[in-house]
Amino acid sequence: MTISHHPPEDLLADFAAGKLEEAHQLVVGVHVAGCPRCTRFVQAIEQLAGAALEDVAPVPMATDAFDRVLSRIHEAPKEAVAPALASNTDDDVPPALRKYRIGKRRRVAPGLSLRPIELSGQGQARAFLLRSAPGSRMLEHTHTGTELTLVLEGSFSHEGGHFGPGDFDYGDDEVEHRPIVGNEGPCLCLVAMTGDLRMNGFLGRLIGPFVRL
Ligand SMILES: [Zn+2]
Repeated sequence: MTISHHPPEDLLADFAAGKLEEAHQLVVGVHVAGCPRCTRFVQAIEQLAGAALEDVAPVPMATDAFDRVLSRIHEAPKEAVAPALASNTDDDVPPALRKYRIGKRRRVAPGLSLRPIELSGQGQARAFLLRSAPGSRMLEHTHTGTELTLVLEGSFSHEGGHFGPGDFDYGDDEVEHRPIVGNEGPCLCLVAMTGDLRMNGFLGRLIGPFVRL
């Protein structure tokens, strides 16, 4: 797997600090787990955070402050962990997501279906698995909001390049894309999306003209 599209560095830095909301932490985390380059970047930030604490002049602080910071850095969204469901061993659920409760597949447009991922309910963005048919061509559409997309299987292309397994696409209202799904097979993506009707990026272009989520 050759990864050529990575999350922006500020997003990775916030991920390392555990500052992202749950859906974003999930999508970035699955990318980082499969990407040696971003793993190194995140580890470097964690080391810097530790070094910065060591440099702090001795002032009164809680004796467990350092542990608390470290645990925040390494904190996983534990509240989101639900008992694994039998259905989560489906082919389209990657191992990294099997601890999450994942809803049934729902058809949202011709050639397009999604499975919602149950999160703790904190945060604005929702997460889901999106499957689109080979060769689908999207209608252009303008939206506001942000969308984080990680390709798990298959591929899509737009003006920003070709996105295959492991690639990360960041969409916001400044990006104007018209994605086309590759012909080699269905494209399965893990998506974190903000907003209900005002969508953007790959998914917004895909379903905005057709349906409301
Ligand atoms: Zn990466």
